[in-house]
Amino acid sequence: MLWDIDHTLVNAGGLSGEIYASVFHRLIGRVPAKIAPMAGRTDRAITAETLDHHGVTPTPSLTSSFLDALASTFEARRAELPARGHVLPGARAALKTLAARPDVIQSALTGNARRIAECKLTAFGLTDFFDLDAGAYGEDALERPPLVKLAQHRASRQYGEQFTASNTVLIGDTPHDVRAAHEGGAHVVAVATGTTPAAALRLSGAESVLPDLSDTPGVIAAILRT
Ligand SMILES: [Mg+2]
Repeated sequence: MLWDIDHTLVNAGGLSGEIYASVFHRLIGRVPAKIAPMAGRTDRAITAETLDHHGVTPTPSLTSSFLDALASTFEARRAELPARGHVLPGARAALKTLAARPDVIQSALTGNARRIAECKLTAFGLTDFFDLDAGAYGEDALERPPLVKLAQHRASRQYGEQFTASNTVLIGDTPHDVRAAHEGGAHVVAVATGTTPAAALRLSGAESVLPDLSDTPGVIAAILRT
């Protein structure tokens, strides 16, 4: 099971946008006019597009400094997360139920850079449900689909088992998650707890669409039957 984080498991309370703006200000020396759209996208893509928008070339070294600064700022402000954001209804129960099954491995497939993903999961007390070494993250690629194969490769290396579309399920809240699953090689359960309504998630091709994660038996059944 590969979980998206933002708006699937947690709401970070708008901290990401603020941190992007503060890092941009610190590194580029001016207040950003806008931050690129974030939902379902990788930190690498959001960083590159935001820099581009302001006429700054996202060179590899600037991009990696930017990603490092984002992660350090998140870590420095981690204590704000539980106060400003929250775990979405049913997320903890779903993670806990699946963690109890010996036949399930849970990791993250997220646009968040790994340190940021870890920071959010730790802030909300969810880290123990994950094997984060078997996941893929926002610094690993510009686009989301290649992250699926990467996570499967990491999981295979770790567990000595093959992970393919037949035994990989991705859970996410945007059409980017659905596309990543289908292009990358996974089934997908979509949850309408982000800005994309259930009907649009269905149209994007998700095999299963849930309003949220609050019905634990229904969530587990949807995930295990895909
Ligand atoms: Mg998301």
